[in-house]
Amino acid sequence: MLSGSGSLMWFRKGLRVHDNPALEYASRGSTCVYPLFVIDPHYMELDPNAYSPGSTRAGINRIRFLLESLADLDSSLKKLGSRLLVLKGEPSEVLIRCLNEWDVRKLCFEYDTDPYYQALDDKAKNYASAAGIEVFSPVSHTIFDPADIIEKNGGRPPLSYQSFLKLAGEPSFSLSVELSWMPPVGDVGRCEILQVPTLKELGYVEKHQDEFTPFRGGESEALRRLRESLSDKEWVANFEKPKGDPSAYIKPATTVLSPYLKFGCLSSRYFYQCLKDVYKNVKRHTSPPVSLVGQLLWREFFYTVAFGTPNFDEMKGNKICKQIPWNDDDKLLAAWREARTGYPWIDAIMVQLRKWGWMHHLARHSVACFLTRGDLFVHWEKGRDIFERLLIDSDWAINNGNWLWLSCSSFFYQWFCMILQAMNAERKWGKLMHLTRDSMDV
Ligand code: FAD
Repeated sequence: MLSGSGSLMWFRKGLRVHDNPALEYASRGSTCVYPLFVIDPHYMELDPNAYSPGSTRAGINRIRFLLESLADLDSSLKKLGSRLLVLKGEPSEVLIRCLNEWDVRKLCFEYDTDPYYQALDDKAKNYASAAGIEVFSPVSHTIFDPADIIEKNGGRPPLSYQSFLKLAGEPSFSLSVELSWMPPVGDVGRCEILQVPTLKELGYVEKHQDEFTPFRGGESEALRRLRESLSDKEWVANFEKPKGDPSAYIKPATTVLSPYLKFGCLSSRYFYQCLKDVYKNVKRHTSPPVSLVGQLLWREFFYTVAFGTPNFDEMKGNKICKQIPWNDDDKLLAAWREARTGYPWIDAIMVQLRKWGWMHHLARHSVACFLTRGDLFVHWEKGRDIFERLLIDSDWAINNGNWLWLSCSSFFYQWFCMILQAMNAERKWGKLMHLTRDSMDV
């Protein structure tokens, strides 16, 4: 049924109703909208042999965070007169089946620069254009369009933050209109629509004492966290990274908005605009690279380089990555992963990774450096894989970019002494070096 007047809104990231241009376009002038999320076995299939609960590619904390985000999205859509349709399967196959069976004239989804989604999106776009379905896929996961920056730089991504800033300039975007209602969901025919599942329904066993991040998923929580962070204008104005205590667990020294940005529960453009509004109302504020706006621009920088660099996530075939003869010692890797290095500081951070799926930037620095150039000389791709699985904010461009950086494989090549850094940390924060695994039992 391809002659309809309905739209299909395909959610992947962008799990929000605020500043969501794809959702806005799907709703405009349509008689019905199908808001679809596909549970993808590539990320979600249970792995009973994994070294910690979860799927092969995602730890249980991130899966829980995603399900909470979906439940929150469903509830926001219901307030607008719609609801989330959940299906399971290989996403492009499911999508094509839906396009075939439902009353769809427009297919809308947020543009995604990750290679996995680029491949899926190509399949979806090819099918849609052959079937005469309009495709709308705006850039709204990032503030800038990485392709524009690369084009401005003569077809190559800028390889330093400063050159990125020069090319990018001031962003020009307008936030999408806030929706006050949505067209109803159309007839779903024979499709067996699911409710947002629970972890248990997906077959996961929750061991509360083992892995339980204190950060709850969803747009509502993202906006609450954002408001809380922005309410302290002085803090926002004076924010300076890398200053800040990485062992401040009760009240982290940074916003902890990364998992919400990762899943698009929070729009980076909205976050940017809110920060600029705070800056307008204070006498002075910090600037990039150390300011909060500067942190968002680091995100943009890594997205741009990742998008423009073939094999960005590998050493081999990656032109911007130094070719280093890393060792392949799986025993050292396992000791690092399981917090058994004997260095209390490193072990405490690895416990935090497993229990919370989030650590302060300097803590990530320490363990990444320790695993690679700082001590164990293990390949950065192995540490990257463990972060990728366990972080709740696991992000393809940012994670790979930071591992390249920390292992001195790209962007930054200075000599670095782990022990010296540990001594500095001890002088600065005192308690840090004395942390034991028990400190994380919160
Ligand atoms: P804030 O300091 O409050 O910053 C606000 C936002 O700016 C963050 O939410 C994030 O989106 C962005 N940001 C901050 N620092 C960076 C940075 N160095 N690079 C890119 N963007 C940044 N961040 C991820 O979001 N996902 C990852 O998978 C990830 N992997 C990392 C791996 C390593 C080895 C290292 C050293 C860092 C990694 N980071 C990653 C970057 C950074 O540590 C986190 O973004 C940050 O700690 C998240 O906490 P926050 O939201 O409180 O940050």
